Amino acid sequence: MTAPLKPCGTVAAYSRHLYHGEDPCRECLAAINTANKPRGRAKWELARLHWDTFLALRAEELASEPDAGEDSLRRASGRAGTRLASLHPGEFAGLLAKHRARLAKEVSR
Ligand SMILES: [Zn+2]
Repeated sequence: MTAPLKPCGTVAAYSRHLYHGEDPCRECLAAINTANKPRGRAKWELARLHWDTFLALRAEELASEPDAGEDSLRRASGRAGTRLASLHPGEFAGLLAKHRARLAKEVSR
């Protein structure tokens, strides 16, 4: 017996859309954005704590971008944040836990 499918508006349903090659619906996009929020917030907080390192990493990442638009900056910042997190795994885990707890509180309000 298989478990019933999770409805739209969940991370599971979001993955299912992608698996089937569909564009995720609005409810599923909202769910994945919420699920990813703590990670983004934790990355930003870590970046502020290690600003000089973050800027250096971002400059490196920007150099590999084909053009210098706003999207390139956002992508480069995202990758720099991921690299910064791997340089400070313990600190990042702590921030992530804090932001997950905070989001859980916001959602239940
Ligand atoms: Zn959906």
